[in-house]
Amino acid sequence: MRILIVEDEKDLAYVLSETLKLEGYNIDIANDGEYGLDCALTGVYDLIILDVMLPKINGFDVLKQLRTANIHSAVLMLTARSQIEDKVEGLDSGADDYLTKPFITKEFLARVRALCRRRSNEYVSDRPQFGDIILDTPHHELHCGDKRIMLSKKEYDLIELLILNKGKVIGKDVMITKIWGYETDVEYNSIEVYISFLRKKMKALNSAVSIQTSRGVGYFLAEDKNG
Ligand code: CA
Repeated sequence: MRILIVEDEKDLAYVLSETLKLEGYNIDIANDGEYGLDCALTGVYDLIILDVMLPKINGFDVLKQLRTANIHSAVLMLTARSQIEDKVEGLDSGADDYLTKPFITKEFLARVRALCRRRSNEYVSDRPQFGDIILDTPHHELHCGDKRIMLSKKEYDLIELLILNKGKVIGKDVMITKIWGYETDVEYNSIEVYISFLRKKMKALNSAVSIQTSRGVGYFLAEDKNG
């Protein structure tokens, strides 16, 4: 899961970012509305945490422009307590949820988890599943029957992306932007290396699910139903 935080209070942005990183999310930060909009328009974010009062372009206008551009990332708006009408305006302009500042971390994380779950349409999102494999989110493990194996951070991110997309082909460029961010110089062969690690691990689990290559495009999960 990749999350964009658009917040001009740098200390707050930093704390939110570190909190979310501990939960295993990939985070980018934008400190004003204009840069936030640029980032968000790439469409790679599962969730955007969007402050209302922002330099250059305010949060509502960022949101309106995103929805006009058909970007359907989930949006959690952050509003100040004094801005009571913000809630209505925020929801009207296409926000999925809002949170009033100041808020406690526990509630923030609960909202983030709920939005990411809704986003992935996966109502047991701490155990997303495809065929006989189950991703154990809290422990960063992949399970198959009674076998389990630990995943590195990047392996975890890759298999999560494949599982949540339920057999759809994911392009290598999408994998790179979702997992490494769009300002990265990671190359396709790094993806290939992580995919080969994952394939070995899935083989060790004796899973009927495998990562298939769509030549020249990317990868997808498939299940061999004949075992
Ligand atoms: Ca602000």
